[in-house]
Amino acid sequence: MNDMEPPRESPLPPGERQALRERLMSAVPASYSPYRHAGLTFGFGLAVIAGAIASIRGLDPLHLMTIPIVYVFANATEWRAHRYLLHHRSKLVPLLYDRHTPQHHMIFNTDDMAVRNAREWRYVLIPSYAVILIAALNAPIAGAIWLLGYTNVALLYIASTVGYVLLYEALHLAFHLAPDRGIGGWSIIRVLRRHHAVHHDPRLMQRYNFNVTVPLWDLVRRTYVAADDRETFASRKKLTSEA
Ligand SMILES: [Zn+2]
Ligand SMILES: [Zn+2]
Repeated sequence: MNDMEPPRESPLPPGERQALRERLMSAVPASYSPYRHAGLTFGFGLAVIAGAIASIRGLDPLHLMTIPIVYVFANATEWRAHRYLLHHRSKLVPLLYDRHTPQHHMIFNTDDMAVRNAREWRYVLIPSYAVILIAALNAPIAGAIWLLGYTNVALLYIASTVGYVLLYEALHLAFHLAPDRGIGGWSIIRVLRRHHAVHHDPRLMQRYNFNVTVPLWDLVRRTYVAADDRETFASRKKLTSEA
């Protein structure tokens, strides 16, 4: 499949999906280590969080309100970034689309979400440097809060933002682990996975279930489809496109 083609909104036939999987896996460098990939992401992220928390002085309990506010803001950002950057090829960052829609979505589908082995994490996890990039993109906002004199709020803002990215990464990886054992089999993961698995139906992926963590913004923006309603929504979409 050509990455420049519009998104394919139907599942690949099993043979083509297997061929794509083999082609993508053969492009993974021999030196790639999935554990180093995850270790760097979580190592960078936890170091930023620990540094920020260690710098807090004289915390007013009211400052802790920063955490739920950032959580809601980050949930909305996750929804927007997923919908507009990961499912539409932007000129600025085409790599985000290329890795996500024609690759991640085409090798993992609703009924077959699990990686075959840890090397396939390459097509699940975001690059490790993205955590640093996201922290850097948020630094001006934290800097402005700091300059206004709310030092602890600025530190909590950065810690919560990076914490959200790690939550996203941990949950997304767990959703793509084997569902019948280990972390992938935990009941909380089984429940949360259902929402993301609906998004992995190619017939629905361009329109529904853009939240990966908790579907708050999908509810706000009315893009929420429950697992039991998947076929209803998919056939409704087919009727609309045929009309
Ligand atoms: Zn996924
Ligand atoms: Zn997606």
